Amino acid sequence: METPLETTENQGGSLTGRRLQSLIRRSRSLGEALIRRARREALVQFARIRHERHNSRVVKAGLGLAVLVGVGLASATGQHAAAQAAEARAGESQTVVRDDWAVDTVLADMSAAKKAEEEKAAAEKAAAEAAAAEEARLAALPWTLPSDARITSYYGMRDGRLHGGTDFGDFEGEEIWSVGEGTVSYVGYEPGGYGNVVYIDHGDGIQTRYAHASKVLVKVGDKVAKGETVILAGNTGGSRGPHLHFEVLIGGKKVDSLAWLEKQGLNPG
Ligand SMILES: [Zn+2]
Repeated sequence: METPLETTENQGGSLTGRRLQSLIRRSRSLGEALIRRARREALVQFARIRHERHNSRVVKAGLGLAVLVGVGLASATGQHAAAQAAEARAGESQTVVRDDWAVDTVLADMSAAKKAEEEKAAAEKAAAEAAAAEEARLAALPWTLPSDARITSYYGMRDGRLHGGTDFGDFEGEEIWSVGEGTVSYVGYEPGGYGNVVYIDHGDGIQTRYAHASKVLVKVGDKVAKGETVILAGNTGGSRGPHLHFEVLIGGKKVDSLAWLEKQGLNPG
């Protein structure tokens, strides 16, 4: 313990009371006699350090001295191996302090990642629940869409003429469903117009038409359920590509079929 100050400075550690306590704790694993003496010496140094806490250099010197006291005692009692262990442990205690900081950072990162994961799971659960609720709501409605295909043309004036229905999709052979329970009231073929077409009477003055079919799967008088496939989409009649032309008639008059579907609680998109 000739040059404690210099030795401590060379170690470059900013030694604190906490580290000193750590060192004291670690010294317990040394031999019994050595421990008691080392602790006593260290505690004396610690008391002095506490007294002079305002001077950090003194604190550093104090702990450096405490380390050397432990090493010196070990050497003095001929326990060279124990002394080496004490040195190793002194270095280790500094490493542990840095590791504690790193562990805190890692734990904080893990906590943030876990929170993000939980929020994502909660959002997915909420979305799944909303989708299930929407599915249940739609299932409970008396009406459905005639197709899941995208809408390609709306009801309204087109090229100076009224386009009296809503066009769905662009696939030949797509299954098209009756939008509600009813009775097939007409099946026919109109070369320049609807092509292969099916009319369904739903009662209460409500009728629907499904035009341009490549294939008709029902005949007049058939009772159909909501969602039952009635035609396969096609390109027959006055059609410029395979699609469903869907109409709704109320009291024999064509209405905006998309607006009507929405009014029934559906989301045609
Ligand atoms: Zn159309």
